[in-house]
Amino acid sequence: DTGLMWFRRDLRTTDNATLHQALRRCRQVHCVFIFDTEILAALPRIDRRVEFIRESLSELDEALRKLSGQAQGGLIVRHALASDEIPRLACELQVQAVFAGRDDEPQALARDQQVAHELQTADITLITCKDHVIFERREILTQGGTVYGVFTPYKRNWLSRLAPEDLADHPIDALGQRLAARPLEFQARVPTLADIGFEKSNLSTLKIPTGMHGGSQLFEDFFERMDSYDTTRDFPAVKGPSYLGVHLRFGTVSIRQLVATAWQRQLAGSAGAAVWLSELVWRDFYVSILANFPQVAQSAFKPEYDAIAWETGLEAQALFTAWCEGRTGYPLVDAAMAQINQTGYMHNRLRMVVGSFLVKDLGLDWRWGERYFAEHLNDFDLSANNGGWQWVASSGCDAQPYFRIFNPVSQSEKFDPQGKFIRRYLPQLAELSNKSIHAPWLAKPLELQAAGVTLGGNYPIPIVQHDEARAKTLARYAVVKKIP
Ligand code: FAD
Repeated sequence: DTGLMWFRRDLRTTDNATLHQALRRCRQVHCVFIFDTEILAALPRIDRRVEFIRESLSELDEALRKLSGQAQGGLIVRHALASDEIPRLACELQVQAVFAGRDDEPQALARDQQVAHELQTADITLITCKDHVIFERREILTQGGTVYGVFTPYKRNWLSRLAPEDLADHPIDALGQRLAARPLEFQARVPTLADIGFEKSNLSTLKIPTGMHGGSQLFEDFFERMDSYDTTRDFPAVKGPSYLGVHLRFGTVSIRQLVATAWQRQLAGSAGAAVWLSELVWRDFYVSILANFPQVAQSAFKPEYDAIAWETGLEAQALFTAWCEGRTGYPLVDAAMAQINQTGYMHNRLRMVVGSFLVKDLGLDWRWGERYFAEHLNDFDLSANNGGWQWVASSGCDAQPYFRIFNPVSQSEKFDPQGKFIRRYLPQLAELSNKSIHAPWLAKPLELQAAGVTLGGNYPIPIVQHDEARAKTLARYAVVKKIP
């Protein structure tokens, strides 16, 4: 048989469950990646993620070529509507099956269903494989056979189910000679950004490493720090987390390899590894929530939270713009927004802080923030992003109770005590003392003057007062209690 491997969010040749399946089942396997015009059309012309993918594809192409042992081996890359192009290509290459890593996002499922249907008319099968999570769909259920809506028992069950088979490697090397040479009409190499209508971003200036090589490099680096993850992960000025999010998103690292390492280390007594493993379990948890409750992509997981009346109108729009642009007057919030705007990354603690600020200080619909993150995060993932936003809005599974409202100043004092992170992103505040940097409006005029800070000039006056906003939020959320 001949097969077609359709790469999507699994841009790697190491431990790729889908590629492994394809190579085992077919005598000959072609490989393709489609720059889907439907997805690309919605993006700005400069997008770090598109560049990340492009760079990663160059490496993937080369790795496939080497594995095939043929000069003409490698990846076919097209710029087209995937739901049309895959069936067309499958017919042209005369394959019997198309293989793809499973993706349970609603839009991906709809696309795959359409592709499967088209293929079927040509007697070709679409075979999807689990690759980007450890457990999916309905694999982890309560004793009553229902899907978990709370994390802790889910995690307990997840950990007790975890067995070496779940983490087994899917080697490709021995099967590499089954990778087909590219037919003559597909000789062109990976297109440039310009070929697909995009411009270069600041990805390389930021030194965000791409591809399998970049993923391994970050993981090796994090491996040295993993044991202290539990104590460092909450401080945005410290190099605590792994920065692997974007690699997990595009599958340039294998989740099984990460979990296997963290698991072994946890068993050896590492508290840092245990906490990091827990974060990887959160990832599976939110993927399964989205798969089982696809309505969360539009509405609150707890439906009663959809009764909340968010601020609307011009004033709300202006508050939102100030939030997006990092002009709220709360330094930690503004520094965090500068981080996402300049780099596409935001530290997890800060995602919670700015999220809470948007919803509970500005009174804005969490979906506005969700959309902004979706547009700007390099590691944007519908399930984790939606889960994170519903967590801060208190409307999600296992979410922050609605009456727990982060105070942006005390969060700042606690997690950036010397204002190191703030100083990095808001240089105009760099000369303020460790005390005043968290709330410049409380500083003495003399200190502000000496530090070169003009409130309402080079740094904004707070756009809301936290205490007032807090009271308003409690009133706004009261509607949740009233519904029986
Ligand atoms: P590390 O701390 O090194 O964690 C390792 C990996 O574990 C992450 O890369 C991620 O895959 C997973 N992970 C960690 N925390 C979570 C979590 N709470 N939920 C699900 N997975 C997690 N994560 C995304 O991957 N994409 C998103 O779009 C996203 N949006 C978020 C929005 C909000 C409002 C919040 C509060 C959190 C969001 N997160 C999201 C979760 C988390 O903030 C990021 O995964 C993490 O900051 C990425 O950095 P890292 O790779 O250095 O993480």
